[in-house]
Amino acid sequence: MTTEKCNCFEDVLNRAKVELKKQVKGEITEFDVRWMNYSFFLSGDYSPVNPQLEMSYREFKRSGEPKVNLTKKQISITCSYCPMCGRELAKTGGEA
Ligand SMILES: [Zn+2]
Repeated sequence: MTTEKCNCFEDVLNRAKVELKKQVKGEITEFDVRWMNYSFFLSGDYSPVNPQLEMSYREFKRSGEPKVNLTKKQISITCSYCPMCGRELAKTGGEA
């Protein structure tokens, strides 16, 4: 089975850039729009933007007191289908 790769994320980003630029009033420079949590994959067929989970917990100091700050870690869930067009992603290869 060969599935043609899609350019959904590039297409949406490019269209969003045009529309968002119109919303900016006045003289500006270095206008940019980018996906948040974008992952670059060296090879393979993946969604470059995936849902994320955030894990948080509070550790204890040696004294037994809870630490002031929570420890937080983000974990990405890799999509099996393109969230834009629904195409099944072939995967394989890996994250850069
Ligand atoms: Zn797509």
